[in-house]
Amino acid sequence: MVITQRSSFKNNNSSRSPLVKQTNESMVDCEKILAVARRAFEDGRTKPLEFREKQLRALQKMYNENEDAMFQALKDDLHKSKTESYVMELMLLKNDLQNVIENFKNWAKPKVYPKSLVTLFDKTFVHKDPYGVVLIISPWNYPLQLCLLPVHGAIAAGNCFVLQPSEVACNTTKLLSQLIPQYLDNDCYHVVTGGIDVTVKLLELKFDYIFFTGSSNAGRVVQAAAVKHLIPTTLELGGKSPAYVGDDVDFEITTRRLLWGKCVNAGQTCVAPDYILCSRKAEREILAKAKSIFREWYGRDVKTSPDFCRIVNDRHYHRLAKLIADSKVAFGGETDEEERFIGPTLIVDVKPDDSIMQEEIFGPILPILNVESHYDAINFINSRDKPLALYVFTNEKRIIDSFLNETSCGGVTVNDTLMHASVEDFPFGGIGQSGIGAYHGKVTFKTFTHRKSVLVRSLNPLLEKINAIRYPPYTEKRLNLLKTALERKGSIISYECIKFIIAFVSGAIFSLLVVLLGKDYWDF
Ligand code: NAD
Repeated sequence: MVITQRSSFKNNNSSRSPLVKQTNESMVDCEKILAVARRAFEDGRTKPLEFREKQLRALQKMYNENEDAMFQALKDDLHKSKTESYVMELMLLKNDLQNVIENFKNWAKPKVYPKSLVTLFDKTFVHKDPYGVVLIISPWNYPLQLCLLPVHGAIAAGNCFVLQPSEVACNTTKLLSQLIPQYLDNDCYHVVTGGIDVTVKLLELKFDYIFFTGSSNAGRVVQAAAVKHLIPTTLELGGKSPAYVGDDVDFEITTRRLLWGKCVNAGQTCVAPDYILCSRKAEREILAKAKSIFREWYGRDVKTSPDFCRIVNDRHYHRLAKLIADSKVAFGGETDEEERFIGPTLIVDVKPDDSIMQEEIFGPILPILNVESHYDAINFINSRDKPLALYVFTNEKRIIDSFLNETSCGGVTVNDTLMHASVEDFPFGGIGQSGIGAYHGKVTFKTFTHRKSVLVRSLNPLLEKINAIRYPPYTEKRLNLLKTALERKGSIISYECIKFIIAFVSGAIFSLLVVLLGKDYWDF
């Protein structure tokens, strides 16, 4: 049964079609919205932990009460199956939110730090401050998950936010812009819809933090705008994530895991394996297994499968169709412009300077490059931008260690794809061209929290006597005393230092007694 007719696939994204009419009026609205959010933040509304918990629980309610509407929007945008929508979007969100609700009060507690000799009688702690009003800009490929995961941490940390979901996933964006105001506080939390014009306008404003997920090119625009106001940013970007396959693996399992990582969401996943590095022998094994695996997963005709997504818009469809046309197809290669269908495709005889190796593929096309050894693979990876993810398939610990020690990337899964992104509280983010900063679980809370160092000193006059060695006039004697007392000597404590510590501790105990017994002691 063909269920992928245009009639059931409502995302007519022939071009970017913003939901908000981009008149001057909507431009002005961005400023007004920021002003409302800022006033709410400055009133201190988001400071009490009870308020934050209420909002997080309202979000939980929103997830539970609107599952079907969310599944429908994802189907309309990307022809996403219910299972993929649940596992890759809603379940991740629900689990992350549960983790946040259970733990954020602990995360929000001040963190007490160890004391040194200088601060022995003081309080040393880090106070967790929200940044203020944060801007969250997200892409279209996982339009629920990528909008709402950062929202959890932003709320838990006590921020207000302005969220701009991607106009490309127009059905999910429309749903979010309807639901969020129904469940969350209307002054603190805002959804702004619209295209690049609106993003540009938002980026002119002075937010307190910008959390951006999208392409490296747009990331540069965001970073440049943030620099003008010195706004801190997290940039969750993309890139080409390699997968190395050794000759020693179980090829049935390896091929399944590689193809799954590439075919989920039709390859429109930031951490999808972008290309394979392996020997000719391994390539033959992968190609031999792929055919039967695809047949098992999607039947004789992938296009009729309810489980295979579509390409989000015409621009991306034509980009991917051209990549196939320019390559040597070993499997698949099927395309259908009417449905924006690109079938799972394996490409061989790939050269490093082929067009398919220049930019992130972001579609169900998997090129295979041949390398002589894992050293070659490491050199190849290191000759390019640092990837968001790296996949290594081998049973040899020595080879796994080589990849871990000799390459740099956002995150690694060994012997599978995508899965490191699902580990709760793992920092998820890139490095270099693939991003700045990280999030997920507790890390999202940290991302949206300014850690304010606080030292509370005593004004006790006796302690001031000890402090006095730092004041002028600077004498040799005082300098030596300071050196002995404060210079770090490594693990071996010098005799001089021990003498000083004994003298200091005795003095400190004496001072403590004075404080405890009160001033009367001196009144004799
Ligand atoms: P995109 O960069 O085109 O768009 C993302 C957002 O940026 C949109 O809201 C868009 O309006 C805005 N934008 C785009 N160009 C802009 C410009 N010139 N000026 C101002 N704003 C601009 O990204 P996309 O196509 O929506 O998503 C795909 C990209 O996102 C891929 O590169 C993918 O790897 C990356 N991505 C990364 C992650 C991650 O977690 N690291 C997750 C998903 C997607």
